[in-house]
Amino acid sequence: MKALVKSEPKAGLWLEDVPEPTIGINDVLIRVLRTGICGTDLHIHSWDAWARRTVPVGLIIGHEFVGEVVAVGSNVNDFLTGDLVSGEGHLVCGRCRNCMAGRRHLCAHTRGIGVNHAGAFAEYVALPMTNVWRHSPDVDRDVAAIFDPFGNAVHTALAFPVLGEDVLITGAGPIGLMAAAVVRHAGARHVVVTDVNPCRLELATPMGATVALDTRTQSIGDVQQTLEMAEGFDVGLEMSGNPDALREMVANMAHGGRIALLGIPTEEVALDLNRIILNMITVKGIYGRQMYETWYTMTVMLQSGLDVRPVITHRFAASAFEEAFATAASGRAGKVLLDWEAL
Ligand code: NAD
Ligand code: ZN
Repeated sequence: MKALVKSEPKAGLWLEDVPEPTIGINDVLIRVLRTGICGTDLHIHSWDAWARRTVPVGLIIGHEFVGEVVAVGSNVNDFLTGDLVSGEGHLVCGRCRNCMAGRRHLCAHTRGIGVNHAGAFAEYVALPMTNVWRHSPDVDRDVAAIFDPFGNAVHTALAFPVLGEDVLITGAGPIGLMAAAVVRHAGARHVVVTDVNPCRLELATPMGATVALDTRTQSIGDVQQTLEMAEGFDVGLEMSGNPDALREMVANMAHGGRIALLGIPTEEVALDLNRIILNMITVKGIYGRQMYETWYTMTVMLQSGLDVRPVITHRFAASAFEEAFATAASGRAGKVLLDWEAL
C-alpha cells in the first residue's frame, strides 16, 4: 500500500510503498478514505526539535482520519465490514490507575497514532477495536475525518458550563475556530475570538464568533466595552499556545472565571499568579478527548445542528501531499484534508 512515511531524519515526508498492516485478534483493519493535516504532522514534516526527540524514523504519520472497516480480528464482534469509522489516536495502557477506573483519557502511559505508533496517512490502518469509533451513517465524511481535533475543541469548550456566559477564545486555528462554533451551539452569549493572523480571523465569524479580534490592532479590553460587558470573561479557552495570548486572557477574566488550556507553548510561560489567586480563577489543562463521551457529544451536536464545515478550507489528493502540507503551514488555511481514494 501507499503510505506517507518519515523515512529520513530530515525535513520532508515520503509517499512510499509499504506492506499492508496485519491485524491481531482484537484489531480492526480500516481502509482510509480521508485524513486531516494537524499541527503535529507539520512538526514531523519540518523535523523540529520536538519531532526529533519523539518520532521514530520510518514511522507512518497521521492521526486524523475517516475510513471504512475492511476486516476484523476473531475477537471483534461489534464492527462489521463497511462500517464508517474513525480512530481515537491515543492508545492507552488499560492497566494504570486511571485506565482501571474508566478514565482512559487520563492514562499515564498513552502512545500516539502517527507519533510513536504506525499512523493513518496510508491506504490502510490497523487499530485495536477499543480505539475505533463507528460514525452515525448521516455524518459528513469531511467532518468525520477531523473528529480528532473537533474532539479537542469540544472537550475544551465544554470543560466548563458556557450557557449564557461570555467566552474568550485565543487562537483562531482550526481548533479555536471549531470551539467557537461549539460554545455558540452550547448557548454562550458573546464569543470573542482573537488571533494575530487576519486570514484565520476571517473564518471566525462564519464559525460563530461575535467578534473576531486582531490583538495587534485592538485590545480585548476595548472589545469588552463595545460589547457592554461589565466584569470580564466568564470562560477562557486558550487555543494558541502563545504566552502573550494567555497573559491577555488572564488579564481579561471576570472574578471566578474559568480557563481551559489546550494550546501547547514551546517553552515555560511566566504568569501573573497574583491575578489568578486574587481573582479566584480556575485553570484546567486539557489533553486529547474523553473516551468516548466526547465522541458521543460531537455526534449529537452535529445531529442537533452544529456545523463545523466552514473550518475545512482545502482538499487535496493524497499524492499532492507536499502542496497540502505547504498550504496547511502557510497560515492562510483552516483545516486541510487529504483524499486517499484519489491517490
Ligand atoms: P494552530 O497553530 O493552527 O492555531 C494557533 C493559532 O494561534 C494560529 O492561528 C496563530 O496565528 C494564533 N496565535 C498566535 N499568537 C497569538 C496571539 N498572541 N494571540 C492570539 N492568537 C495567536 O493550532 P491548532 O491546530 O488550532 O491547535 C491549537 C493549539 O492546541 C496548538 O497550540 C496545538 O499545539 C494545541 N493542541 C493541543 C492538544 C491537546 O491535546 N492539548 C491537541 C491538539 C492541539
Ligand atoms: Zn493507562
